[in-house]
Amino acid sequence: MTVRTRIAPSPTGDPHVGTAYVALFNLAFAKKHGGEFILRIEDTDLTRSTKESEQAIFDSLRWMGLDWAEGPDVGGPYGPYRQSERGDIYAEHCQILLDRGHAFKCYRTPEELDELRVSLKEQGINRALKFCDLELPADEVAKREAQGAPFVVRMHVPVDGRVEIDDMLRGVIELDWALVDAQILLKSDGMPTYHLANVVDDHLMQISHVLRGEEWINSAPKHKLLYQYFGWDMPVLCHLPLLRNPDKSKLSKRKNPTSILYYQRMGFLPEALLNYLARMGWSMPDEREKFSLDDMLTHFDIQRVSLGGPIFDIEKLRWLNGLWLREDFSIEQLADCLQSWAFNRDNLIKVLPHAQQRMEVLSDFAPLASFLASGMLPLTPASFAECKLDEDQLKAVLQFSLWRLEGLRQWQRDDIFATLKLLADQLGLKLRDFLAPLFIAIAGTTSSFSVMDAMDLLGPDMSRARLRYALNVLFGDIGKKQQKRLEKDYEALA
Ligand code: GLU
Repeated sequence: MTVRTRIAPSPTGDPHVGTAYVALFNLAFAKKHGGEFILRIEDTDLTRSTKESEQAIFDSLRWMGLDWAEGPDVGGPYGPYRQSERGDIYAEHCQILLDRGHAFKCYRTPEELDELRVSLKEQGINRALKFCDLELPADEVAKREAQGAPFVVRMHVPVDGRVEIDDMLRGVIELDWALVDAQILLKSDGMPTYHLANVVDDHLMQISHVLRGEEWINSAPKHKLLYQYFGWDMPVLCHLPLLRNPDKSKLSKRKNPTSILYYQRMGFLPEALLNYLARMGWSMPDEREKFSLDDMLTHFDIQRVSLGGPIFDIEKLRWLNGLWLREDFSIEQLADCLQSWAFNRDNLIKVLPHAQQRMEVLSDFAPLASFLASGMLPLTPASFAECKLDEDQLKAVLQFSLWRLEGLRQWQRDDIFATLKLLADQLGLKLRDFLAPLFIAIAGTTSSFSVMDAMDLLGPDMSRARLRYALNVLFGDIGKKQQKRLEKDYEALA
């Protein structure tokens, strides 16, 4: 059997370090067994998927040296590798399941689904919705069909009993059918859900081993059943441990930057980031901390993955990065590295139009632009003393701006400005007062050039990270109660 592994990221938001982590183990496993590693884009969620995000996935994985043999941008014999281009294939396969009686059209409305759930609960029945709950009388189905009412296609799922899932690392995992719902396969807009598309594609793309994050374990029973319904062999499953924040919670951007672009922008080396991700739950036979991708591939054994949730600790990553910088780079190489990272002509040409207006001598440039080549700025609560806002306003400005900017798809000066101006108006604040804390969070001072230009130049990841950092410097870890209140106030704005 040829080993074929894949990652299947959804192009929504920033490219996540968790994607690189899973990619690394898929690549290592495939190479170890003389196989291929491929990239598929799972973009069936049309409202959340973007081309920018897809491009960022390609760029950031390539930057890290995680190359794929087949994918949307390089082609291959099993394409297309973008799910949005495979609609006919899913429709055809969904029809097969309908014809064989493994799936059914469901005309239930969202209100009816809520009522059904409440009714099960009231009867003390603790299980997911099944065909027997969802079934409508034949004449009602005919009526809704005649009215052209929206429907979804769902799969039949056993009402009770146990299901066994084999996992390469975890052995046999037993799960309860009662908790598995009659999963939607085709949505009312005709798009497939993750489950249908993922199974059909893994089969048609001849994926032999599925290595993915442990958050997908609960989906495995549905997938197993779909493979049975189609009469296909299921790939070998392997659920990797989730990366965690130092407090053991699931790695989240609220506590740790999670975007690969942030690490790039911060000046981490791809070699070190890759090395660190390889250390997440995996170790070299001699337990050494520092090793290259080639070293890893030589010694790779999936059974050396340990399941305790690996902690992604930026301080440790910094330490490792320091080792790489000092031990593997000559001064010449370091000079090249710095130049291509930030001190290149393209970057200067982007920054200079803003700096030029404020320069009298060339030496004015470094203080004006140093915040663009920095990591987190040396802020303290006193840095915000000159802001004319009280504590609640300060919190609202920084937190709400962060939330709005997290939802911004196009990271360009004018879009950033429009977003912030609207927020200032909604908060009833003068733009000048509103922008002051943002200036300090982003540039460390209010006397920098336009904060919108600064954010544009810094990019979304570093800009958002600095806003989060400022919130942390000012207010520490905001408690759950306060967080809820902020969220409520935020929703009330719109
Ligand atoms: N699209 C899923 C994701 O975003 C893929 C999960 C899988 O590998 O099956 O992670």
